Amino acid sequence: MNRSGMTSEAALHAGTGRPFIIAGPCSVESPEQIMAAAEEISRTGVKVLRGGLWKPRTHPGSFEGVGETGARWLRDAGKAAGMKTVTEVANVRHVEVVLENGINGVWIGARTTGNPFLVQEIAEALRGTDIPVFVKNPLVPDPELWSGAIERFVRCGMKHVYAVHRGFHSYGESHYRNPPFWQIPVELRRRFPGLPLLCDPSHITGRRDLVEDTARQALILGFDGLMIEVHPDPDKALSDAAQQITPEMLGDMLGRLKTRSSSITDTRASAAIDDLRSGIDRIDADLIDLLARRMDISEAIGRIKDSSGLTVLQTGRWNSVLERVRALAKEKDLDEDFITEIYTTIHRASMERQLKR
Ligand code: PEP
Ligand code: MN
Repeated sequence: MNRSGMTSEAALHAGTGRPFIIAGPCSVESPEQIMAAAEEISRTGVKVLRGGLWKPRTHPGSFEGVGETGARWLRDAGKAAGMKTVTEVANVRHVEVVLENGINGVWIGARTTGNPFLVQEIAEALRGTDIPVFVKNPLVPDPELWSGAIERFVRCGMKHVYAVHRGFHSYGESHYRNPPFWQIPVELRRRFPGLPLLCDPSHITGRRDLVEDTARQALILGFDGLMIEVHPDPDKALSDAAQQITPEMLGDMLGRLKTRSSSITDTRASAAIDDLRSGIDRIDADLIDLLARRMDISEAIGRIKDSSGLTVLQTGRWNSVLERVRALAKEKDLDEDFITEIYTTIHRASMERQLKR
């Protein structure tokens, strides 16, 4: 897959530039609401309008979308404002409605991406069309499921496939509605370097005051665009009210967001970065060497534990190692949780080495 090949002819991408922005309400609610959204959003220069017709809701009884009748409202609002339109499809019937009504593109919701049966059926239903498909990440932070779904669309001949990062489900308290776990989209980019990658800061944050900051982080990381929930009157939205922003906020935010280039053209900056990177490469070689030596020592300890009948896990020792490295990290101004994470992995590998003996 090649980025220029995939996006240059994409109907939706044409003329939208970078970053590629999709904006619109979580749900299409009425002809008036989607028309107002389209008109106001188009004034910010955004060329692609989103609006969900069928809403996957956690609890029954919540607003589940206007369904098929809204497809015309979405298409007509897009036409009136000179915008292309996209909506979510979660089954074959939804695909038929999209194609019958001239909606320009589809996204695959997080709950659907995690279901290979449904993804396959949707991909087969789209075969032979050339409409863009935006594949949101599954709820579980698993790059395999996400890339598997993308591959199903590509194998069905879809030429304009995009990935959309919308954060992941997590249990317990979090700053985010769906924490971003940036390493997962980074891994997806490593696997498919040519795949355009968008970020959906609305579903990641769940809060309108955090949307811009997450959007900025995504663009700094190298994302190609954003899908943002925008509603003409967010507080009255029938779904996801807390995370939707106004068209005016969208315009202000887009004015502030700067894009970055992934290739370096300034030769001085490039030489300075190369120099610093060779420093990092040397440190990485040292780190690997130190880890190998640490592992050898751990193995020697394992032999003694073995011959003297001691358990591999010595909780007291592990606690004191953790306490010590956290204190050392603090002195060097390193994040203590980051060090805990690294040491938890090192300790696990060390125990595995002792168990394998
Ligand atoms: C949405 O985009 O409104 C939506 C339901 O998205 P997700 O599948 O990411 O939850
Ligand atoms: Mn939503």
